[in-house]
Amino acid sequence: MSTHKVFYFSHAPQNVYEIIREELPPGFELVTLKEDSDDERKEKLADCEVVIVAARPMTGDFVAAAPVLKLLHHQGVGYQDTVDVAALKARKIALALTPAGTSIGVAEHTLLLALAVCKRLPYADSELRQGRWHINSLRPYSFELHGRTVGYIGMGRIGQETAARFKAFGTAGIYYDPHVALSPQRQAELGLRRVELNELLAAADVITLHVPSGDATCHMIDVAALAQMKPNAILINTSRGSVVDETALCRALQEGRIAGAGLDVFEQEPFRPENPLAAMPNVVLTPHISAGTRDALKTKMRSLFQNVQRFFRGEDLENQVTL
Ligand code: NAD
Repeated sequence: MSTHKVFYFSHAPQNVYEIIREELPPGFELVTLKEDSDDERKEKLADCEVVIVAARPMTGDFVAAAPVLKLLHHQGVGYQDTVDVAALKARKIALALTPAGTSIGVAEHTLLLALAVCKRLPYADSELRQGRWHINSLRPYSFELHGRTVGYIGMGRIGQETAARFKAFGTAGIYYDPHVALSPQRQAELGLRRVELNELLAAADVITLHVPSGDATCHMIDVAALAQMKPNAILINTSRGSVVDETALCRALQEGRIAGAGLDVFEQEPFRPENPLAAMPNVVLTPHISAGTRDALKTKMRSLFQNVQRFFRGEDLENQVTL
C-alpha cells in the first residue's frame, strides 16, 4: 500500500506535531516544518497530496508549488482569509473544513473573555503580582453576567454553542443573522429572540461576534455601530479581526463610550505590543487561541483524518466547500 503524504502547513512546536501524529491513521505520513520558512514549505509541498491549513494562509504561490495536491483540509472553519479559493478551483483541488473540535472551543473561549472583562481579570492578576491588592477599587467597574442581555451577531455553529453556554449564566439572548432564522423550539431552548442589527446594538450589554470574514462583514463594528452601543456594553470578538474597525474601537474605549472588550482576533496578527489596546485595563487580549486547546486539536485531527481516509476511499467528503 502506498503512503499518502499529509503536510501540516503551519509551523508549531514538536509536542503539537506529536498530538497530531497520535491521530494519524496507517497509510499516511505527516510532513512537518523544522522552521517557519516559506522555502521549506515550498520544498515540502512538492510531493504532498494533502495539506492541512490552519492560521498560516495557503496563498496561490503555495498552491502552484504543490503539483500533486488533491485535498486541502482546513483545521478549522474560517477558510475565507486563509485559502486561495480561485487557485484551488482552477486545479480542481478539493477543500474541506473541520467544525468538529472548533465550535465548543470557541464558545468556551467567548465565555472566558466575557467573564474576564466583567471582572477585569488580567488587570487584577497582574496588579496582585506587583503587590497591589484591589479588594475594593475594582468594585465600581466589575459586574456579573446574570440578568444581562447578550447580543449575538451570527447564529451559525459557534453562535449556537455560545448561546447555550451564556444561557446557563442567566442571561437573556437576542441575535442578528440575515441568513439564519432558528425554529421557535430552538430559540426557546437557547433563550433567544431574533432582532435587527440596530436593535441588537442598542439593547445588548454583551455583544459577541460569530460571523465569517468577507466583504459583507468587514468593519461591521465601525464608528456608527459603536455609537449605538450602551456605555456599559462590552464587545467580544472571537470571529475575525476584520469584522471590527480597531481604530474606532480604541477610540470608543478610550472615551468610555463602551465599557470594555475581549478580543482573540485582530486586524493585524500577530498583535504588536505598541497597539493602544495593550495599555487598557478594561480590555482582555488573547493570541487567536479560541479553538487552541489540546482537546480541540485531538478532536479536530480525528475528524480531519477520518475525512482524508474517506477521500482516498473515493467516498464523499464531509464539510466540503463548494468552490
Ligand atoms: P457558521 O458558518 O456556522 O456561522 C456563521 C454565521 O454567520 C452564519 O449563520 C451566517 O449566516 C452568519 N452571517 C454571515 N454574514 C453575516 C452578517 N453579515 N451578519 C450577521 N450574520 C452573518 O460558522 P461558525 O462555525 O459559527 O464560525 C464563525 C466564524 O468564527 C468563522 O467564520 C471564523 O471566522 C471564526 N472562527 C474563529 C476561531 C478563532 O480561533 N478565533 C476559530 C474558529 C472559527
